[in-house]
Amino acid sequence: MKKSGESVAERWARIQREIEKALQRRPDSWSHQVQVVAVSKGQSPDVIREAADVGLLAFAENYVQEAVGKQEALVDQKLEWHFIGHLQSNKVKKIIGRFQWIHSLDRMSLVEELEKGAMKTSPVLQKVLIEVRLGGEASKSGCTVEDLSALASRVQKSPHLQLEGLMTMPPFQEDGEKSRPYFRQLATLRRELEQHLGVKLPHLSMGTSQDYGVAIEEGATFIRLGRQLLGDRTRS
Ligand SMILES: *Cc1c(COP(=O)(O)O)cnc(C)c1O
Repeated sequence: MKKSGESVAERWARIQREIEKALQRRPDSWSHQVQVVAVSKGQSPDVIREAADVGLLAFAENYVQEAVGKQEALVDQKLEWHFIGHLQSNKVKKIIGRFQWIHSLDRMSLVEELEKGAMKTSPVLQKVLIEVRLGGEASKSGCTVEDLSALASRVQKSPHLQLEGLMTMPPFQEDGEKSRPYFRQLATLRRELEQHLGVKLPHLSMGTSQDYGVAIEEGATFIRLGRQLLGDRTRS
């Protein structure tokens, strides 16, 4: 595979400058912080080590089997793991206790499986974000806007799950600006849900390589960066 020649350190330095600029474009009253999660699907443990060496400590994976293998290869590293892929119910047992954050909770049956799993592994309090599908036909994963409120109420009632916020993945478009309406809608949904549930939902997980600047402007607290940060990968 052809490498673009840039090291993770160089990529990270460039991205940090872009993040700083995007944070400056936020309203003064907003937080001027955002957490970067490095998306390491399709990347080797060596790439993750290279990223950890430049100070990146939060990594996200999409596929349970692949993730577990890498976590085992990296037990000597103190890393924080995020699960961002489509989660099958029969894989829940495997991921409880391995991921501090799950961004892709998208259906009732999964709430039940996760609650059961977290309870068994008690005292795990599993942090979750609900993934919302905003791109209509074009996006495949996430709960619908109509189902969001009932799903969130159910998570709230699950003693071993902690609802932290919302996540979305808009349909891929080269022009990041085209993602703005989706990011804005996710922020609005969070505000409405906070009022409805009477709780604070601290997190908005939105923005990937081509649209993280826009996501930051719209209030992202987590951005999920794969290619731009770690380089080309072996799977999509
Ligand atoms: C792959 C993936 C990313 C990272 O995408 P890049 O374009 O490589 O930055 C972020 N979020 C989710 C849910 C993904 O599947």
